[in-house]
Amino acid sequence: MSPADRSAELDRLEDWTGLDPRGRAARAAELELAAAAAGDGPAEMRARLVQADVAERAGALKSAVATMWQVNEWAHRHHDRYLIARSHLLLGRTYRNMGDVAALLEHAVAAVEHLDDSVPPRRRLPYIVKYADALTETGSIEAARDRYRQAAELARHSTDVRDEVLVLNNHAYAEYLSGEPERAWELIERMRAAASAKGHRLDPNDLDTVANVQIALGRHAEAEQTILDAINAYPEGHQEADALPEFLLTLAVTRRLQGAAAAARETLAECRALGETHGHGEILVRVFQEQAELYAADGDYRRAFEEHKRFHAAEKRVLEEQREAHARTRQALFEVNEARQEAERFREQARRDPLTGLRNRRYVDEHLPVLIGQAQARGDQLWAAVLDLDHFKRINDSCSHETGDQVLVMVAALLADTVAGSGEPTAFAARLGGEEFLLVLGGHEHDEALGELDRLRRRVAAHPWWPAVGELPVTVSIGVAGVLADSTQSTLLARADEQLYEAKRAGRNRVRTASRSRLGAATVGARHV
Ligand code: GH3
Ligand code: MG
Ligand code: MG
Repeated sequence: MSPADRSAELDRLEDWTGLDPRGRAARAAELELAAAAAGDGPAEMRARLVQADVAERAGALKSAVATMWQVNEWAHRHHDRYLIARSHLLLGRTYRNMGDVAALLEHAVAAVEHLDDSVPPRRRLPYIVKYADALTETGSIEAARDRYRQAAELARHSTDVRDEVLVLNNHAYAEYLSGEPERAWELIERMRAAASAKGHRLDPNDLDTVANVQIALGRHAEAEQTILDAINAYPEGHQEADALPEFLLTLAVTRRLQGAAAAARETLAECRALGETHGHGEILVRVFQEQAELYAADGDYRRAFEEHKRFHAAEKRVLEEQREAHARTRQALFEVNEARQEAERFREQARRDPLTGLRNRRYVDEHLPVLIGQAQARGDQLWAAVLDLDHFKRINDSCSHETGDQVLVMVAALLADTVAGSGEPTAFAARLGGEEFLLVLGGHEHDEALGELDRLRRRVAAHPWWPAVGELPVTVSIGVAGVLADSTQSTLLARADEQLYEAKRAGRNRVRTASRSRLGAATVGARHV
């Protein structure tokens, strides 16, 4: 499967329309594996989000939210704007279902913010609608109306009538929530007309909106019929996590309002049981509220008061659960970060020499070619200096191997000091093996670089070595080469090695250089500084 095919299928899976949830999750799981095997990170993360989306709709809010945060973190790390937007969209919906509308607004805004212009109109639609819903639920109906209008514009680009229905349904529900049932009813009539013109049946979710608005308009018997149609059609269409308990709650309300207290109580008990199984704090709070209404309608004020207290306790519990959910997600994020840091530490360690703590050959092989390429592209200077301790065998032989090691550690410290003192971020020191080191310096003119290296040479020779090695001198020979237009790592190091050899032959404890500048390719100006 090509990445383009994978991406197209993920587009379909992300869509809010079509497909049964189980099939959607199963297909997403397959795609996740295939994407991982192909090293296609973005597709892998998108497939993971689809599964979290399905899980959340089925009521597994807490596990879904952890996955959403992990994908969000990955997306930020990889600067993947689409996945940042998508994960925020889903996080917003999930926190809303946990009862946290402030978090809904925060995530809905972040989702819209990260949506690039390249995302086609139809795929932008759910983001704008969710943002409008968030504005509604946080009390900004005026701003929400503008966004529903914008979403309606986007829906006109779609040939699928369900897009238009989605916008009208959510806008109608928003008007209803804001105490504007007449406005809501106008939108519902437009929604019904649009659906029937295209031969589309409204899904249970849309019918729940219709029923709630009918209740608000005092049309209780019609509302009961509407919501019964919704319950009978369930689980048809696109479902939210709280769909069925939501419908049952609406049904209980219509029954109470029509004076059927016993039927209302029964329906409410069913709703409560469902809400408790799925941990739907948001629904449960409204169930207790409705219970209180029921007792009050019966004239049972003592029990109404009891239920009222339960309502407040439940509300408090919802807030506590939100806090707990936030804490858990913070913890999940922390763990993800920590695992990453652990991997980075391991990576870093694998690129250091254990004895001296300097960079090792592996680091050199990874970084030096990059630095050479950059210097060539920008016309910058770059110097490679190969250092070898003079008569090091004598130290090992007349003192001990341990003493030899101590000397190596100290020389390495002087090298690291030179790097730090150079103030260049690209400079580094490495141990190439044995008693041979590499120093890479950039940004210096020829004489300046040589001056720095000769200072290092003199510092090594002048170091108080006698406590470790007695009378034996400790010195280094240094061969230097500058990057040329056609240098590679191996030609650069070979030229430096040649100079090192020359330095040894000329008597050791000296610096020799191959070329005056990277442009002076042919002139080999050997010199003893
Ligand atoms: P020259 O001036 O020609 O470089 O003389 P040299 O004695 O330094 O030459 P050579 O390269 O022949 O010897 C290097 C010695 O360094 C040989 C080896 O025993 C020693 N050596 C290599 N790695 C280590 C190490 O990790 N620790 C210690 N103590 N000695 C090492
Ligand atoms: Mg050697
Ligand atoms: Mg040596």
